[in-house]
Amino acid sequence: MDVRNCKTCGRLFNYLGGPNICEACRADIEKKFQNTKEYIRENPRASIQEISDANEVTTNQIRQWIREERLQFADDSPVGIECEICGATIRTGKYCENCKNKTADALSKSIEKPQAPPPPVQKPKKENKMRFI
Ligand SMILES: [Zn+2]
Ligand SMILES: [Zn+2]
Repeated sequence: MDVRNCKTCGRLFNYLGGPNICEACRADIEKKFQNTKEYIRENPRASIQEISDANEVTTNQIRQWIREERLQFADDSPVGIECEICGATIRTGKYCENCKNKTADALSKSIEKPQAPPPPVQKPKKENKMRFI
């Protein structure tokens, strides 16, 4: 059994994987997430700071949700986080469109390397040499 300290409330809990957060705090965060999402829908032009104040969540937590693509913002929302590569302002995910295309490009290039076709697999012939003695 893996018992750890919850990084939010400090209580010991039975660790089952993922972040070091106990069930109670996880449920709490989830509730805050729903509230935050609701708040953003009702206040599409709120800034991260306003969202943070209104929902008692840290701005870091909000940024994390944005990176996880759990929160979406309107085009005219002042909310933005930085692309992890070039620092451009984005509204969701980790990278801007540009960098996303570049990384996708680099990825597909490394996958599309010309490869010699694999040699035909020759099945070993079954030897029917069962002998009954
Ligand atoms: Zn906890
Ligand atoms: Zn970028």
